[in-house]
Formats: sequence, structure tokens, C-alpha cells
Amino acid sequence: MQISANKVVLVDFTLKDDHGEVLDTSVDDEPMAYLHGVGSILPGLEQALEGKSVGDKFQIRVDPELGFGERDETLKSVVPREQFEEFPDLAAGMQFQVPMNGEETIVTVVDADEDSVTLDANHELAGVVLHFDVVVRDVRDATADEIAHGHAHGAGGHHH
Ligand code: ZN
Repeated sequence: MQISANKVVLVDFTLKDDHGEVLDTSVDDEPMAYLHGVGSILPGLEQALEGKSVGDKFQIRVDPELGFGERDETLKSVVPREQFEEFPDLAAGMQFQVPMNGEETIVTVVDADEDSVTLDANHELAGVVLHFDVVVRDVRDATADEIAHGHAHGAGGHHH
């Protein structure tokens, strides 16, 4: 069975950056399950999986535009330090979930001093060229529920 729209796919993947540093992997955990064709995984990865079948193993390079997007410098902002007064130990690298334009967004502290805090709402992998090692573990037809919900159920997928 080949991967196409409305298949549930189980994959093992390892994601590395340009320097070969491992950013994420499913190998220490269970394979990732996803519903193919609904954009629930990165576009570059979904395109590469189209037509593959169980046992296929491949490596792909995903440029930012098909990955987590290019960095957008307008997503950086400087806010007064008082807004973070409940965090006396605020430091670069800390992340917060904040409402932005009606959506919960992760922002990263890039700089903090006594007066102000610089926040970056870019995805931490925005602008990064991604390298995936992928192994297709299973391909099956999605159930009607999975198609209605737009995600995979069961092992590696959503549990309700
Ligand atoms: Zn569901």
C-alpha cells in the first residue's frame, strides 16, 4: 500500500540541522502516526512521503519555506521588564506561551535586562535547513473518525 491522501502512516524519523546535530527523533519513543494529506506534518516531509510504502527508508533535506518557515524579524518585540515581574530569574532562552492574534504562541526570551525584555515569536526552527532520516513503519486506510477529526488515532497518534 502506497502513501496517499487518507492513509494513516507510522514513521520513524530523526531530524538534524545542517551541522548534523539531532533536533528531534522518534527513535527513543514510539513511531509518529499522522494522517496523510491534511498538512498535519511539515509540507516538505509530507511531499517526500507521498507514494512511499512500508519499509521505505530515505533521507531528505527540507528548506525553511517547506519546513518551519523563514525567520520574520517583525515577530521580535521589546516589552517593559515590569510585564515579567513575577519572573525574577528571567533569562535568554526561556519560553512562554502567550496569546497573540487570538492564538496561543510560544515566544522565546532573547534578551532581558533591568528595563526591557526582547521576545521572539519565530518558531525556534524558523530559517533552519532540516535534514530528515525517515523509515516508513506502517501504512493503512484511515477510519471515518480519523478523516472526520483530521488526525490519526491509536499508537503514535491522538488519544481521546
Ligand atoms: Zn480524533
